[in-house]
Formats: sequence, C-alpha cells, structure tokens
Amino acid sequence: MPELPEVEIVTRRLDAALSGAVVESALAPGMNVMKTFDPPLEALIGTSVTGVRRVGKMPVVHFSSTSLSRRRSSSRSTDGDLALLIHLMSAGRLRAFDKRASAKDRASRVLVRLEDGRELRLREFGTKQRAWAKLLPAGAVAEDEMVASLGPEAWPPPPLEDFAAAIDQPRHLHPLLRHQRDIAGIGRSWVDEILWEAHLSPFKKGSELDEEEVGRLHAALHVLGDAIDHYEETIGPEVPDKVPMPLRVHRHEGEPCPRCGTTIEAVFFSEHQTNYCPKEQTGGRVLKDRRLSRLLK
Ligand SMILES: [Zn+2]
Repeated sequence: MPELPEVEIVTRRLDAALSGAVVESALAPGMNVMKTFDPPLEALIGTSVTGVRRVGKMPVVHFSSTSLSRRRSSSRSTDGDLALLIHLMSAGRLRAFDKRASAKDRASRVLVRLEDGRELRLREFGTKQRAWAKLLPAGAVAEDEMVASLGPEAWPPPPLEDFAAAIDQPRHLHPLLRHQRDIAGIGRSWVDEILWEAHLSPFKKGSELDEEEVGRLHAALHVLGDAIDHYEETIGPEVPDKVPMPLRVHRHEGEPCPRCGTTIEAVFFSEHQTNYCPKEQTGGRVLKDRRLSRLLK
C-alpha cells in the first residue's frame, strides 16, 4: 500500500510530467469509483492540469478551467478550478501513460485523457474495487470529510507539541500511528521503521510515553523524509507500480537488526504484521503471535 513517501514521489513526478496538459475527455470505468456526481467528470474537458499534490496518503490533481490566455490577460479568481481527490486504498495506483488504456483493461477506474495523447490513469489491482475519487471545486478539498478529519501530516514533521497532543491516547502505538485521523501519512510499512528508529515497542501506548520518548518518536519521523530523498535519487520520471521501498525492519523477520544484530521478530495479525528488534524495542521480550489471539488489536 502506498504510504506518504510513495504517494509523495508519485505526485511530484506527475506534477512535473502533467502540468499544463489539457484534458480531452474523462471517464470512470470503475464501478462506484466516483463518490461525487456534481460537478460531473465531463467538467474536466478543456481544463488543464495545474498541479498534482498530496494530502496524507491521498493524491490530489488540480485542474483549471481558465485558459492560459485568459489567465494572462486577467487576474480573475480561480472560481472554475477543480480538484480530483483520490483514495488509493490498498491496491490503487495513479500513473500517466503515453498511450490510452484498452477498453478491456479491467484495472481501469478513472481515465483522464489528455490532448497530447497521454492518459492519467487510476488503476486498481486485484478483485476488490475499493479505490475511489471525488471531483470537487478546488476550494472544497480542505472541507471534504476525508481531508478535514486528517490529523497533522507526519512529514514534514508537525511541531513537537502538536505531535505530542496527537499521540497522547491510551492506544498501542502501532495502530495509533497508522490512524489517519490522529496523524496522517503512515501505514503498515513505515510504522515499523519509525518505531524501530525510536527504539519503542509497537505495543506501548501513546499515553504511556514520557517526554523523552515522545521526543524520540517525533525525531524518528525523519525516516519518511529520508525515504523521499531516497526515491528522488533512485526513481526516474516514471514511478513503477511497485516502488522498491528502503525498509530495514518491516518484513525482515529472521534477519539481523541493522543496528545491533539481534534477530528481527514479527507479530502476525490476520491482514498485516509488525516487525521489531526485541533487544532495542521490547526490553528483550519476544511477543506472541497474535493470529490466534484477539486480545490486542
Ligand atoms: Zn536492534
């Protein structure tokens, strides 16, 4: 699942590639993918892409209905501007292609066809159709329930006081840090890296952290920025569907901890897993497999 660093590099590359491109047509082959109907997707026809950015783990594509010449000749407000807010869920990918999708491509969810022949495509892999998009007046994005309910962005790191307030809750750090309403952008992969960097147990509760531990956790958010820097260096103009993630502990069970050499352990849940270094994160304790236990979630 794409998390903050992966969505950041996707939106940066799309922003560079698509800005200025004019929309020829737009359609949504995906069943129920569009969560809005007014304005309709056809409202994008004739608009141009003005930018691609990210909020939390969601890409947002901005379009301007004002033609370039009109924009130059007047300083009109951006009344007609639209934004496509996208939730990739676990299997959605947003990518630009030089050619148009075949009508038989069952992964297609939203297709924005550009006059230059390219196509911005929201695709989703697997059988579940869970990714969605909303076409909104650009000014309404911030008020959208999915955006307005987000906690502070995990990167760039929020001020320490805001972060401390966001995580001061009697819940385990692993689900807490992944909960977008508490802090936005972190998912199942990067949470393990952040907790390892902070030397904290995934089963410690947010409200149990002392001041020094909160500071350590806050400082550990730099792993997200490091990942973005890594992608900037290693990924070209095209971002692959499966970005090679520079993870050091997540899914590295059985391997030596990159810091102390202790064997990395795992706790498996029904749909995900958490990895940690027992020596540095749990006081030497190896935690029980949770697949058979619902005591902790
Ligand atoms: Zn270690």
